[in-house]
Amino acid sequence: MIINSTKRPFGIGSKVSIFTLGTMRATGSFNEMYDVIKCAYFAGINHIETAPSYGNAEIFIGRALDQLEREEKIPKKEWVITTKILPSGNINKLKAQFQKSKEKLNLEKINNIAIHGVNLNSHLLWVLEGEGKKFIQWLKTKNQVEQVGFSSHGNYELIDKAIDSDIFNFCSLHLHFFDRSKIPLAKKALKKKMGVLAISPADKGGQLYSPSQTLKEDSKSIHPLEIAYRYLISEGITTLSLGAQKEKDFALAAKLANSIEALTKKEHNVIKNIEDNASYRLGDTKCGQCRNCLPCPNEVPITEILRLRNLAVGSGQINFAKERYNLIGRAGHWWESKNGDDCKNCNFCISKCPNNLNIPNLLKETHNMLIENPKRRLWSS
Ligand code: SF4
Ligand code: SF4
Repeated sequence: MIINSTKRPFGIGSKVSIFTLGTMRATGSFNEMYDVIKCAYFAGINHIETAPSYGNAEIFIGRALDQLEREEKIPKKEWVITTKILPSGNINKLKAQFQKSKEKLNLEKINNIAIHGVNLNSHLLWVLEGEGKKFIQWLKTKNQVEQVGFSSHGNYELIDKAIDSDIFNFCSLHLHFFDRSKIPLAKKALKKKMGVLAISPADKGGQLYSPSQTLKEDSKSIHPLEIAYRYLISEGITTLSLGAQKEKDFALAAKLANSIEALTKKEHNVIKNIEDNASYRLGDTKCGQCRNCLPCPNEVPITEILRLRNLAVGSGQINFAKERYNLIGRAGHWWESKNGDDCKNCNFCISKCPNNLNIPNLLKETHNMLIENPKRRLWSS
């Protein structure tokens, strides 16, 4: 049975469902992509997000949408497609890449294009003053897409500038129940009538498909992933990406396809229980994520590291915390480059912390708890 889902305004483009199908995980074969898109349709999803860098995703999507129209009578025009382009290269290369995406997707018009990974100031400069500006002007004047957006794994200030630039109509950001640091930016973007997509609230939001026993117990009668989704929806985030691979991955999307109401009393109580229990376990070592301690003169990402500590100690999410911590220094500009071991004990941050945390000690402790092989440095300083 097809779920008759709520569709909400997404920038100045076509309306989208509360969940967006992310296609990074379903690239193993055409059949896998076909099945996933079909399941998404029946779960009420009308928005597919992809990128040329996701292996054969674009070509599989193009074929799948044609086959679904032919065999299942699912109209191709009902889908909203977003693809991406990296912030580099000259206008001719960008036009050629865009054309290639269109051909692979077998679409006369792509709905949305996002500048993928505006993570550094140089990327934003490329958009505002460089070849990116020319490319976006070409897309708009030639009516090639409905709208242009950006995705970013960058810092708060950079995303703020990108939103303020008024070039973009939507943005894809890391917005998570367990990392609310960018929620004010999402709200600012929404106020400017931009569409806002939450990147991977399940997986990057804390491996919430398989939460720790501690978190499951704290979350009581509602699964932590459902609470995480509901929290973001209730904050007004337009759409949440779902990197599905199998039919069962759509169960919550189908259940929440129309759940745009404010949090219920029961949901509030569950959130309070998760937070109270985490606070109790963290005691006077809890980082309130206020960011007062930033910037560190040695560029240690204090808040990110202490957020992982909060999750590991407060909610038992040690596997997730370890995965993220050990990615530091290994993901280029897509994630942090320094870890707790890079703290030089200058104590510059301590007096700025309203919680009186001994930040250097906590960074050291977190490093020892999360680093997979403490003897091996991941980078040279
Ligand atoms: S003590 Fe460490 S974390 Fe704090 S400002 Fe100095 S180097 Fe940065
Ligand atoms: S100032 Fe203290 S509480 Fe605030 S983010 Fe930094 S370490 Fe956390």
